[in-house]
Amino acid sequence: MRNLLKVDGVGKNYGVFQALKNVSFSVDQGKTFAIIGPNGAGKTTLFKVMTGEVMGSSGRIFLAGEDITKTPADERVHLGLGRTFQIVRVFPELTLMDNLIVAIEARNRSRRSAGGWLRIKPNSSVLDEAFVRLGYLGLEHKHAAQARHLALGDRKRLELALTLAMDPMILMLDEPTAGMSPSERVAIIELIQKTREELGVTILLTEHDMDFVFRLSHSLMVMNHGETVFVGTPEEVKASELVQQIYLGKE
Ligand code: ATP
Repeated sequence: MRNLLKVDGVGKNYGVFQALKNVSFSVDQGKTFAIIGPNGAGKTTLFKVMTGEVMGSSGRIFLAGEDITKTPADERVHLGLGRTFQIVRVFPELTLMDNLIVAIEARNRSRRSAGGWLRIKPNSSVLDEAFVRLGYLGLEHKHAAQARHLALGDRKRLELALTLAMDPMILMLDEPTAGMSPSERVAIIELIQKTREELGVTILLTEHDMDFVFRLSHSLMVMNHGETVFVGTPEEVKASELVQQIYLGKE
C-alpha cells in the first residue's frame, strides 16, 4: 500500500496562539481518511496548511513522496491535491456546461503552460469531456442551466465535478455535507464512494456528521486543541474512552 500523503510534525502559530501542534499522520493511496474533532480543534487550519492556503510554522508535508511544504497552493493542485469548495470556483452566471469547460481548459492550459493560450471556442473533445463529467455526477440533464439556479446538493456535485476535472490524486473535502438534507447527504456519500472506487481517488475529509464519517472512512484522526488525540479505524475510535471523553463529551 503506497503512502500518498504524509504530514510530519506540522505546527501553525497565529501570533502566540498555537492552532496546530506537531500534527502527524499519513494517508494510504485509495483509502478514505477523516479528520474529526470539536469546534476549534484545528481541522480547517490543518486543511489550509495542507492545501497551501496558509503556510505552516513547522513540520513537513509530502505528496506522493515529494516535499510540498513550501509549494504554492496552485502548484499543489497541479501536483494532484484537489480541494472542493476552495480552489475551484463555481461561476454562478455560467451554465453547468460552461463551468466544466472553464475547468477543463484551465487544466489543459496548465499542462501546456509554456503556451499559455486561451481558446476562443472549446474543441469537440473538451465539449465531450465536459458532458461525460457532468453525466458522471448525474447533472447532464441540467447542462444548460445557470449554476446560480442549482439547489445546494447539485451545487456541491458541480463543485466536485470541477475539482475532479483537475484529475486529482487526492480529494480534500471540507465538511461536504454541511447544510444538506438527509437525502442529499446519502447522495453525496454514494458519490464520494463511487469516486474512490471507480476513479481510484484517495479521499481526505473533515466532517461533523459522525454517521457519515464512520460509514465512509477507513481510518480517522481525532483532533483537540490543535493536537492529534487518536488515530484509528472507525471501530477503534468508537471504542476509545479517551475519544469519548474529549470528543463526544461523555464522562
Ligand atoms: P470548526 O469545526 O469550528 O470549523 P476547526 O477545527 O476547523 O473548527 P479552526 O478553524 O482550524 O478549527 O480553528 C482552530 C483555532 O485556531 C481556533 O481557536 C481559531 O480561533 C484559531 N484560528 C483560526 N484561524 C485563525 C487566524 N487567522 N488567526 C487567529 N486565530 C485563528
